[in-house]
Amino acid sequence: MRRSRAFIPTSKEAPSDASLPSHIFLSRAGFITQVAAGLYNYLPLAKRVIKKIEAIINEEMTKVGAQEVELSFVTPADLWAESGRIEKFGKELLRFKDRKNNLFVLGPTHEEMMVDLVRNRVTSYKNLPLNLYQIKTKFRDEARPRFGLMRGREFIMKDGYSFHADTEDLDREFDAMEVAYKKILTRLGLDFRVVEADSGAIGGSGSKELMVLADSGEDTIAVCSKCEYGANIEAAKRSRRSNIPEAPEAEFNKFLTPNVKSIDELAEFFKVDPYYTVKCVAKRVIYEDESEIVLFFVRGCDNLQEVKAVNATDALDIVDVSEEELREIGLEPGFIGPLDQDKAKHVIDSDLKSAKNLICGANEADNHFIGVDLGILDDVAYFAEIAEVNEGDICPNCDGELSFTKGIEVGHIFKLGTTYSSALKAEFLDENGKSQPFIMGTYGMGVSRLVAAVIEQHHDDNGCKWTKATAPYMVNIMVSNIKDEAQVELGEKLYGQLQESGVEVMIDDRKERFGFKMKDAELIGFPYTVIIGKELANGQVQIYNRQTTEKTAVAADDIYAKIM
Ligand code: ATP
Ligand code: MG
Ligand code: MG
Ligand code: MG
Repeated sequence: MRRSRAFIPTSKEAPSDASLPSHIFLSRAGFITQVAAGLYNYLPLAKRVIKKIEAIINEEMTKVGAQEVELSFVTPADLWAESGRIEKFGKELLRFKDRKNNLFVLGPTHEEMMVDLVRNRVTSYKNLPLNLYQIKTKFRDEARPRFGLMRGREFIMKDGYSFHADTEDLDREFDAMEVAYKKILTRLGLDFRVVEADSGAIGGSGSKELMVLADSGEDTIAVCSKCEYGANIEAAKRSRRSNIPEAPEAEFNKFLTPNVKSIDELAEFFKVDPYYTVKCVAKRVIYEDESEIVLFFVRGCDNLQEVKAVNATDALDIVDVSEEELREIGLEPGFIGPLDQDKAKHVIDSDLKSAKNLICGANEADNHFIGVDLGILDDVAYFAEIAEVNEGDICPNCDGELSFTKGIEVGHIFKLGTTYSSALKAEFLDENGKSQPFIMGTYGMGVSRLVAAVIEQHHDDNGCKWTKATAPYMVNIMVSNIKDEAQVELGEKLYGQLQESGVEVMIDDRKERFGFKMKDAELIGFPYTVIIGKELANGQVQIYNRQTTEKTAVAADDIYAKIM
């Protein structure tokens, strides 16, 4: 490609809301432009990177026997009603009606669609296993789209779904997919960890996330210093928090009268373990009309005034809910009341053993109640233990110590079991001629997020440093002075040779100053830039290595051989 012809609108200015290197550099280097919140155009350079990532994914998927399909982006809401997810997915699901008043959603993920494709078409165990995937635009109306390609509303995902006759076969496929996913990320040149998405609390092996290690990652993960163990702490806590039963209003009111006498009764009311942190229990209750309330149960104080004294920040801290998350569900974080740091400390630090009561603080004035006998302290301590992961804890798999680091979730693989196949009545005949729901796995990878993740891990103050597998062009030939015939001649010759050899090459043939062109090359991040400049008079050119930022002098005659 000739730079003079290329559509690469580089800029000195980053978008005003850009804080992450990937967002800043992908915008400044002319890879992407923003259309609206969470919506981006991919320009030619970004398209090339995306195609490379997709090609690697396709190769590894083919190796493990997965087959590519492409399902409709617009999906009938009926399918989502069938699986029950239309409610659960909430506002992330973009719903709309066509001219005939049929309700549709823009696919945020395709479990329902894939099950619908396979049901009644695969009818016998003889045709299993089956692994189908697609690489496709997804839409999720994220509450807070941000960080450029990292959290878009429209984004590209590779989503795969496997169908099995028994759980052993699902286990085998799941392991094979984990291996394939690791290969993909290794080939892309990324430093990553596979982590349990539900560490401890749920067991873990059923859901694993692939985390690219980067300071800017939104997830905190616990990793072992000695072995490969890793766990996503936020996911573990989130999964406990989201595991909430329906709470009909009548039952909720009953609960508000102070006649719940023990933690057993409390647990019975909620049907599942409440979500515990060391000294506080938080419970999100969702009403049928979709309104929500967060209840706080604080131990170690014996009247409501003291609960009220917990200031908002500390309260958020102890229940591990961010202010933003609360606003997302329509709650104002100031709900707990007067800000008195000293009293707040008393509540939080009070000794476990001295706890007498459970006291409920809520975000609505009349929804407090007091006087619940804590009863079984040991249970509380137990829950506290499993919800907490601390740095320095001993790894569950070896005697190494855990430390915390930040990760970007680029992939997520999941053993679904029969959840969707049962709901959608997708069945096959087993060896005994008996009808059984498919046993399923699901495997997602964020293709557009990967573009950003590569840059989060590979950049410096001057711009992108693409890995060899992801670079839009491997070599940039810089003709320093376009008026110098010898420079132009060598540049063109090398350009022709490299193109013939299948090297992806750009030639910077613009009538611009050397300094300007060099800054551009660093910003875009070609792995190699061949600088053809004044030294050519002495038979020398330079190779600039973007990774190491070193320039090496090379004899002009040898340059082609050196690069190849
Ligand atoms: P997150 O926790 O970041 O919101 P998720 O757990 O909701 O992601 P999954 O449903 O597991 O996402 O989807 C599979 C993959 O799709 C994720 O691992 C991620 O790489 C990618 N992905 C999800 N949401 C987005 C988004 N808004 N923008 C870009 N990529 C995304
Ligand atoms: Mg999400
Ligand atoms: Mg996630
Ligand atoms: Mg996920």
